[in-house]
Amino acid sequence: MVSESHSGPSVDVLVVGGGIIGLAVAWRARQRGLSVLLLERDRFGAGASSVAAGMLAPVTEVEFDQARRRTLDLGLRSAALWSAFAAELGELTGVGMGYRHAGTLMVARDADDARELERQLVFRESLGVKARRLLPSQARELEPALTPTVRLALEAADDHSVNPQQALGALASACERAGVLMEQHTGDVAVALDAAGDRVEGVRMANGSMRRAGQVVLATGAWGGMIAGLRDSASVPVRPVKGQILRLRDPAGPGLLTRAVRGRGVYIVPRDDGRYVLGATMEERGFELNATAGGVYELLRDAHELVPGVAEFHLEHVCVGLRPGTPDNAPLIGRSAHGGLIWACGHFRNGILLAPLTAELVSGVLTGQPVDPLLEVCDPARFGVNTPTGSESSGALLTGVAR
Ligand SMILES: Cc1cc2nc3c(=O)[nH]c(=O)nc-3n(C[C@H](O)[C@H](O)[C@H](O)COP(=O)(O)OP(=O)(O)OC[C@H]3O[C@@H](n4cnc5c(N)ncnc54)[C@H](O)[C@@H]3O)c2cc1C
Repeated sequence: MVSESHSGPSVDVLVVGGGIIGLAVAWRARQRGLSVLLLERDRFGAGASSVAAGMLAPVTEVEFDQARRRTLDLGLRSAALWSAFAAELGELTGVGMGYRHAGTLMVARDADDARELERQLVFRESLGVKARRLLPSQARELEPALTPTVRLALEAADDHSVNPQQALGALASACERAGVLMEQHTGDVAVALDAAGDRVEGVRMANGSMRRAGQVVLATGAWGGMIAGLRDSASVPVRPVKGQILRLRDPAGPGLLTRAVRGRGVYIVPRDDGRYVLGATMEERGFELNATAGGVYELLRDAHELVPGVAEFHLEHVCVGLRPGTPDNAPLIGRSAHGGLIWACGHFRNGILLAPLTAELVSGVLTGQPVDPLLEVCDPARFGVNTPTGSESSGALLTGVAR
């Protein structure tokens, strides 16, 4: 329900941040009958979401550490939601998402890489995750454009991809059709608390005006640690991890690669129209966003070693984005230390993959649904800050999570 007040309309839920997470959360919350206002300081998709390659890759992304093992469940569950999510958005908006079911190949080019892939295979088997070992001839049968020197490959047939830019367009359109109130180019908004400093009342806009809401969701990506208005104890340890990525086009059209291909330090993701995304660097440079000659050189060198035909591609864009990193690389989803404030950020390398699940989890929190066990992994309190106060300390916020 939207009600008018002297400082503007008051809504049930105010979502800050118009990346894939904020848009997906706003849409699902509105579908559950809540009135929703979505605020973006720039344009929708201005952050990491429009830069991302769009791999939906829980199997190839899983790594050898506890946190990653825990996030595998998140990734697998969200990957399972993606097909229906894309179909629903497509039906509602008529916008395709470039959803591709072709799978992913992890490729080893030398003996070291091959040993590493064998370890990866054993690890995935221990997790019960599907990945098939392929001899070089089998890998090249699937993807003839691979270098003849390929030593070994793993096929993750269930790791798919989407075009994030199309997904953002479809989500923005779905939000609009569903009646989400949307404002772009707002400038930075800050959290506004009640007089006691415990409960959120809405947000303060860059021009000083207030937007009131019963609950506020912060879907502010890599800027999660920079939100003004919070008590120190309610802040979260989110940091930007810079990624450079290249967009290329094969002048011969689509077909050189069918699957996404990953090697050491590089991946190549095909789109339907003969375009390819080639990524990505991982750099700890704060909020710096410059594309560098070294970054572009290394990506092209590594990709060319994997798929020599890349040399014929036309280079269309170099893009740079900031992944929202957390100390354990798992996202922050759930209630914060302030009543009525919910975090939905810190999705690091997997925000596109995790968007459908995050939207479900957050709208469950907003509407007071029973706590989903997966929220434990994402508890914003797990790093020892964000300790809840007041009566809202139960609900989505669970205890007993590694700190
Ligand atoms: C090179 C690269 C490749 C990637 N590839 C993949 C991939 O293949 N698969 C995958 O799943 N993920 C991938 N990712 C990760 C993915 O892009 C992110 O996890 C995801 O986009 C995070 O979405 P978000 O909505 O949380 O953040 P963002 O898209 O960054 O959106 C946050 C928004 O909040 C706004 N904002 C911030 N602060 C404020 C404020 N105070 N007031 C108002 N607005 C504010 C920002 O302007 C921004 O638009 C990749 C990332 C990079 C950089």
